[in-house]
Amino acid sequence: MSLSECAAQTKRIVNPLFLSFFPGNFRCHIYSLPFLLCRNPTSPYSLYRPLTMTAMMQPQIILLKEGTDTSQGKAQLVSNINACMAVADVVRTTLGPRGMDKLIHDEKGNTTISNDGATIMKLLDIVHPAAKILVDIAKSQDSEVGDGTTTVVLLAGEFLKEAKPFIEDGVHPQNLIRSFRTAAYLAIEMVKELAQSIEGKSLEEKKSLLAKCAATTLSSKLIGGEKEFFASMVVDAVLAIGTDDRLNMIGIKKVPGGNMRDSFLVNGVAFKKTFSYAGFEQQPKKFVMPKILLLNIELELKSEKENAEIRLSDPSQYQSIVDAEWNIIYDKLDKCVKSGAKIVLSRLAIGDLGTQYFADRDIFCAGRVAEEDLQRVAAATGGTVQTSVNNIIDEVLGSCELFEERQVGNERFNIFSGCPSGQTATIVLRGGADQFIEEAERSLHDAIMIVRRALKNSTVVAGGGAIDMEVSRYLRQHARTIAGKSQLFINSYAKALEVIPRQLCDNAGFDATDVLNKLRQKHALHSGEGKLYGVDINTGGIADNYANFVWEPAVVKINAINAATEAACLVLSVDETVKNPKSESAQGDAAAGAMGGRGRGGAAFRGRGGRGMRRR
Ligand code: ADP
Ligand code: MG
Repeated sequence: MSLSECAAQTKRIVNPLFLSFFPGNFRCHIYSLPFLLCRNPTSPYSLYRPLTMTAMMQPQIILLKEGTDTSQGKAQLVSNINACMAVADVVRTTLGPRGMDKLIHDEKGNTTISNDGATIMKLLDIVHPAAKILVDIAKSQDSEVGDGTTTVVLLAGEFLKEAKPFIEDGVHPQNLIRSFRTAAYLAIEMVKELAQSIEGKSLEEKKSLLAKCAATTLSSKLIGGEKEFFASMVVDAVLAIGTDDRLNMIGIKKVPGGNMRDSFLVNGVAFKKTFSYAGFEQQPKKFVMPKILLLNIELELKSEKENAEIRLSDPSQYQSIVDAEWNIIYDKLDKCVKSGAKIVLSRLAIGDLGTQYFADRDIFCAGRVAEEDLQRVAAATGGTVQTSVNNIIDEVLGSCELFEERQVGNERFNIFSGCPSGQTATIVLRGGADQFIEEAERSLHDAIMIVRRALKNSTVVAGGGAIDMEVSRYLRQHARTIAGKSQLFINSYAKALEVIPRQLCDNAGFDATDVLNKLRQKHALHSGEGKLYGVDINTGGIADNYANFVWEPAVVKINAINAATEAACLVLSVDETVKNPKSESAQGDAAAGAMGGRGRGGAAFRGRGGRGMRRR
């Protein structure tokens, strides 16, 4: 019987609001009725127990606070899956070299244009509790390997999509989880087997191999048109920092204006000219082999008279206080000059007195240098940041081959090149709009991470769906050797892996079915000659992507498969969501809407309403 019929029969208690939770012709299960009947409208608490004879005789058990919302069972699971699929749908179109970008603007009016899965997921501000897991795996993929963030979200969404019909048919989630884990293990073993090593090559060869990996990453970005140019720049930057693990040793400076190709790499440090006082223009702006003093102290008149209370009996004593202050600063400046440094950089301000003092002695100075830049100068020039000007010995001074102040676009840059320690590199990015440069920076970050990963693990696989198709074929083949339900589950896992080549085709406007059939046929060849074939993004056919240098570090794929499987299994293992009333009021209606899989009204989430079974 339908819910309204039930309501008519019970004649009371059923709250009209409750009815509104169940759209249309939702059929009320008969066992739901006792819940409705046993609710005591006058009690501040609800009783979450069916009305049975025993229950009527026992005292009421109050378990959860009034207003607590629990949804459970199959319906809840399906609703979670729907939400995750909706999230995957958001980033779906951004995959690959022909993928589209997303423009996201927040309430403050900031706009971001991005193709990067992790950036988009972060900015979407997803409130659905289960879908948040996908945001987390995108973030972790970003910090772990740097690239493959869209891939990981898509894979997780697809695994869940494949799992959904089984769940609806009553398969226990644990069976699915077990099979998915086995499949992931087999898939990763296969990726490792297929990976080709770039170890033992000469530096030149290695450089060009790494540049190929960087180019593959960049090809799907806004700056894809100049991928070779940036790829070699990224490789040079990564090789410059050597084995240093600190990513911030590669600085990226953005200067709006000019052409992308005007971007350049400094083998050392570059930063924007800092705020300067009168006298700055008289300072020399170019030095060969200068000594560099790095400070973290203020070289400015403090005007202590404003901070301290001093009682004077004789007005003539006032001058002595002013003099004392001047003497202190002159003493400091003098010590800096005596150290023999030609360049003085400070984290804190260098006032007009200091600026003029240095200018008179042909010394260059810059105050208020950003912490990060100062650290990089220290690492590159071999200097140490001082917190006092007493006893400055030669060892704490840094040096570089050339220092100069150069005009870049509308900005003036302080550039330290030819640094002895060579642990830093700086990329100065040029380009039109702000959003463009921002996205270019994110893309370079991906590429830098990829090159570092490839350098460390030195194995690569063919991209463009080639590796995914091969692993998928292997899993299907393996599934046939298994008796039992697991065969079906592993098969659907294998099918889910095909989402990568399919989406690459869809995004490029190719006939996905056609291309996928060709790929399946090629990969099924017994000779194994087709295992490197993937989508040819230029012609709409298939091609040997290894030979075409569409390369990705194996670790990107391994991490993506691992993270996506874990996320899918996590979502599948949740069968009940309990929302306490406090968090409801904090997050407002938005979260409440999202619980039903309906999201926040964003176009991307609309129309996929899954229904969790609610109990009141
Ligand atoms: P992600 O955020 O997952 O890195 P991308 O938008 O960067 O997503 O797309 C990566 C996918 O595009 C990978 O599967 C990669 O193999 C594929 N790809 C990159 N360059 C090419 C190319 N030139 N031809 C075919 N596929 C490519
Ligand atoms: Mg990428």
